[in-house]
Amino acid sequence: MFCRIVAHEAPATIRYEDADVIAFDAEPAATPLHVLVVPRNHIRSVAELADTELAGRLVLVSSRIAADAGAKSFRVATNSGAPLQDVFHLHWHVMAGDAMGHPAGIAFSRRTQKL
Ligand SMILES: [Zn+2]
Repeated sequence: MFCRIVAHEAPATIRYEDADVIAFDAEPAATPLHVLVVPRNHIRSVAELADTELAGRLVLVSSRIAADAGAKSFRVATNSGAPLQDVFHLHWHVMAGDAMGHPAGIAFSRRTQKL
């Protein structure tokens, strides 16, 4: 699915893209700001991410997405492996604008309840 968005073959609201990274709105959104930051290359999860430069750029793009959205408080998170990971193409979640609380699982557990 994410490979199709990367190739512009599937619709998405794209917030940022460059030669290596693309960021688009999550569908459905779990929080008012919920953007996925994804490497163009198909990497299964952070457990298989070995490129230090790409890892850093994914994090910096995530931070920039939050700044561009005006979020003063935000979360950057990635899940690796089932059952936490639902799409097996590495993606960072950038989430803000809700009472997400601590620890990081709250927004996801709310979404799970809807399914
Ligand atoms: Zn993929």
